[in-house]
Amino acid sequence: MKLKLLLFVSIILVSCKSSQEFTGFSYDPPGVTNTTGKEITPQKRRTIGAGEPKVWLTNEFESARAVDFYQVNETTYEVLIEPENYPINNSPWFAFKIWADEPIPIQLRLAYKQGRHRYVPKVYRQMGSMSATHIINNAVYDTTNGSTTFGLYLETEPQTISAHFLDNSRYSELLHESRNFTQSFIEVDTVGFSNQNRAIIEYTVDETKVDEAGVLVLLSRQHPPEFSGFLTYREFFNTLIGDSDLATEFRKHFVVKAYPMLNPDGVVNGHWRHNAKGVDLNRDWQNFNQPETRSVQYALTPILNDPSKRVYYGIDFHSTNENIFYPINSEIVTTPDNLTQRWFEIVNAELPELNFVSEEFDTSSPISKNWLFHTFGADALTFEVNDELPIDQIQKLGVHSANSLMRLLLEEWKAAN
Ligand SMILES: [Zn+2]
Repeated sequence: MKLKLLLFVSIILVSCKSSQEFTGFSYDPPGVTNTTGKEITPQKRRTIGAGEPKVWLTNEFESARAVDFYQVNETTYEVLIEPENYPINNSPWFAFKIWADEPIPIQLRLAYKQGRHRYVPKVYRQMGSMSATHIINNAVYDTTNGSTTFGLYLETEPQTISAHFLDNSRYSELLHESRNFTQSFIEVDTVGFSNQNRAIIEYTVDETKVDEAGVLVLLSRQHPPEFSGFLTYREFFNTLIGDSDLATEFRKHFVVKAYPMLNPDGVVNGHWRHNAKGVDLNRDWQNFNQPETRSVQYALTPILNDPSKRVYYGIDFHSTNENIFYPINSEIVTTPDNLTQRWFEIVNAELPELNFVSEEFDTSSPISKNWLFHTFGADALTFEVNDELPIDQIQKLGVHSANSLMRLLLEEWKAAN
């Protein structure tokens, strides 16, 4: 029996290797739930020159990732992208700046260790006070080694090549945002510090004037490259704090606790997935070995002893290769019960072009959603947004889904209280 299974598994592996692209987007490497600290290889920050005229590449900026750079032949240059440690899920984040001593066309190859190409490259150029962006849609993927190659016209001014446009998504920008809210009902706190001493930021939205308020928990950026999930979170949050009648009514009954960036070290250091201790934070919600997850645990657990508040719903925003809800299995009784399933129907009906799908899971894995359920009995969702969802659709998704959830939560809360 064992042998048969082994044979079956190896046939699948062989057949994937020969012809198909890597598709293990939700793949968990072995040992991922052992969340004690591991060794990582810190990226050497440097500027490297190669070829004639000299072509320059640098990773000396926030969120950069490029481990090495060299010339392959007369026209082709290669950037080596490696993760912080491995085994690791295939989320090969890259970001670097590149330029040349004289303008020249080159072929640029992104080569990966411990992974295969996944994210469509984006280009950002600053020209004086103007900036321009474009997406490289004609990169050629090499199925044999997982690399990708595209043409690039280099100039003497640096261009930033990255897996997603960096704007508004870095840790420094979150710190800036956190200092600039004008609403009196938003409180910004530091609830703990990451391994490398960066603030774990909490936003509390509270204008409730009721005896008992529901609490909506929002989490994001446990996984650094998951920009579309993070940007959806931000649109979602901005809708909750907006001045619509719905949001105003919602905030009479619900407190929002938001943790926009749970893995600041990973974001700053351009990690593929892990924190500075080489750990997938979204597998640490049972053991709480890492300070990032512990910060949220310590911030939220006291609500259990606060008769004026009840954690009622939670959303953890992520990105993958499709728009997908991962709800708690409908047979498991949560309070409210199966709210996610009802919300999913509304999101799908309002935004059919986004082709949202839903895949239910039991509550055994050590992820944030399950911790919210096991601790508070609340329903919760892992909200996955397509890696490459365009920004106008992200905005629409964030606004629509926030409005429909506020309506649903209000209905449910008022019926039960
Ligand atoms: Zn994720």
